[in-house]
Amino acid sequence: MDSNAIFWLWGERFSLRGIEDDKKANVALADVDEQGKTLTVYVHTGRMEHLLLYVRRWGKQCVLNTGSKYLKFWENKLGLTPVSLVAKAMKTRWGSCAIHKRQVTLNTDLVHRNARYLEYVLVHELTHLFESGHGPQFYALLEAHIPDWRRLRDDLKLPFPPPDIGI
Ligand SMILES: [Zn+2]
Repeated sequence: MDSNAIFWLWGERFSLRGIEDDKKANVALADVDEQGKTLTVYVHTGRMEHLLLYVRRWGKQCVLNTGSKYLKFWENKLGLTPVSLVAKAMKTRWGSCAIHKRQVTLNTDLVHRNARYLEYVLVHELTHLFESGHGPQFYALLEAHIPDWRRLRDDLKLPFPPPDIGI
């Protein structure tokens, strides 16, 4: 395993470490060492090539877990009946909302950014349950809940991590 491998978790840089351990190897399990900023992923013996696949699946689970916490809070605050949540790798969007299904999809790459961005994307998508398009009424509602939405939106258009930090 390349010892320079990095995983950005909620806006913080972690070293990614792969350990062969047949008992702990699991697609959705990783140990987070917050102090040492190390992320340990367990793979089956001789299958170190699974490391990135496992850490990606684990990251997806993180987006779902953290997304669900924010969703509960915002469902409550906005007086919404339950909305379902999906996390998916997407190339061109940070999130989407299937209004008729009452389902929000979040991009799995949100795990790399500060969780504030996930919250912003989630609230943007939930706002579509009140206003389907991106008209003035939509942005008025969004601004009432996420006053700094413009900055968050613009940040999400920039490459991450910033080139001067390196990957
Ligand atoms: Zn939208």
